[in-house]
Amino acid sequence: MNVNLYGCQGKWVMVDCGITFADLNYPGIDVILPDLAFIEERIDDLLGIVLTHGHEDHIGALPYLAEDLGVPLFATPFTAGLIRGKLEEERIADRVKLHVIEPGKGFDLGPFGFQFVPMSHSIPEANALLIDTPVGRVFHTGDWKLDAAPLIGSPATAEQLTAIGDDGVDVLVCDSTNVFNAEASGSEGEVRLGLAQAVAKARGRVVVTTFASNAARVATLGEVAKETGRKLCVTGRSLDRIIRVAKACGYLKHFPETIDADTAMRLPRDKVLIVATGGQGEARAALARIAEGTHPIALDAGDTVIFSSKQIPGNEVAIGRIQNTLAGRGVEMVTERQAHVHVSGHPGRPELAAMYGWIKPDLLLPVHGEMRHMMEHARFGLSQGIPQALVQKDGDVVRLLPGAAEKIGHVQVGRLVLDGDVILPADGTTINERRKVSLHGQISVAVAVGRDGRLKGEPEVRLQGVPVEEDRPPFTAEAVAAAAEAARGGGRDRDKLREGIRLAVRRVATRWTGKKPIVDVLLIEV
Ligand SMILES: [Zn+2]
Ligand SMILES: [Zn+2]
Repeated sequence: MNVNLYGCQGKWVMVDCGITFADLNYPGIDVILPDLAFIEERIDDLLGIVLTHGHEDHIGALPYLAEDLGVPLFATPFTAGLIRGKLEEERIADRVKLHVIEPGKGFDLGPFGFQFVPMSHSIPEANALLIDTPVGRVFHTGDWKLDAAPLIGSPATAEQLTAIGDDGVDVLVCDSTNVFNAEASGSEGEVRLGLAQAVAKARGRVVVTTFASNAARVATLGEVAKETGRKLCVTGRSLDRIIRVAKACGYLKHFPETIDADTAMRLPRDKVLIVATGGQGEARAALARIAEGTHPIALDAGDTVIFSSKQIPGNEVAIGRIQNTLAGRGVEMVTERQAHVHVSGHPGRPELAAMYGWIKPDLLLPVHGEMRHMMEHARFGLSQGIPQALVQKDGDVVRLLPGAAEKIGHVQVGRLVLDGDVILPADGTTINERRKVSLHGQISVAVAVGRDGRLKGEPEVRLQGVPVEEDRPPFTAEAVAAAAEAARGGGRDRDKLREGIRLAVRRVATRWTGKKPIVDVLLIEV
């Protein structure tokens, strides 16, 4: 979830505005957004948002936050196409200004000059940003790698990056994702060979799962289909969207005609190659449904699924579940452990070292990684001769220039969650209540009392998630009796009465289950 704010002469520019995805700590939540309170408080000084590339961790928050921020966006055509699609989905496309800048070109924003510098990554049009200010220059790499055969786009060459470094760069803000990799990331071109071999070996239907946004990989799969004499079937809304935007930007020119799932199922098994989303174990994506047998594409013993992607940390359990289901059907699986079917989009150490050599910064500011990645990246940069390295925590304010960099403050940051259509604090009342209910269960007790505090009729008790299963009727009867007993002794003090009932019912629950559910007492005066 990337958001960077650069300030100069009292003006601010945001670089990227991403989301991250929720885990089980956020029950009922899919999307987590950054809390932008700091810049919202000085919104008049925010000049714009510059987007490095179209991955969700860099642009995903725009549909929810861009309209309120009310500043123009700047992106290259492919990224802009993805953003426009998101804004249209939210019906705010006409209310957010989106400037399209050609790759390699620049623009000015107050005291800042920006130049998009094309880089290789795992999506078309990843850009580094060369940021010029009156006090010095910053090279913000965005997500990047080195790739001699990127298949899509023409990344900046070593000569061009050296020229940028020779002009003088003070600060390198650099991707830390793969700092623990001793090897370079490898080329998209090599993957074509590995995938072609894996598909050629397969006898039955072949499903390849990859990130939809990796248009170069999608192009590769088009070539592999042609080479292996298979028709290409593409399933998943996000793949359709990427292919549409990529074609509109002049990419995927040689992409083969695709067939739909029904046609694919009528072809001989060894004549079809299916590209599907869901390689990270996403429950609603095509691969999960194929595994469960609820998708128009059906797989059987002897068919093959190729995982042309890495397992993103945290997704192992979900991916494993799908792989077990597929294995149970006799489907064969190929991952990057068995064949060269994936390369990373982030730089390993040899690539990082090359970048330091070209850019020659005075200061390295590691970004894009967990704390352990950024700390290691700082150590690695220093070991390679960069004079200074500085690691920020979320919310740290660092003065980069002029002079030696230093931490000068810390401001409010945090996480918001998108819950239905509502944006909430990630650890606020709503989510905390939901966690408690999901952990402990809940009991509602309705009690009618007269004006004198006397119990009227019989209390009502309802349970949610309390582990009594088929003992629910006797348990409820006992809870009702306990509530009635407590109400009889209650008296006129409403709060005391409510608390007495709550404790009495909770004691019953604890005796029956060993748990302490949330007990809500509703006192109704009749
Ligand atoms: Zn990325
Ligand atoms: Zn990223």
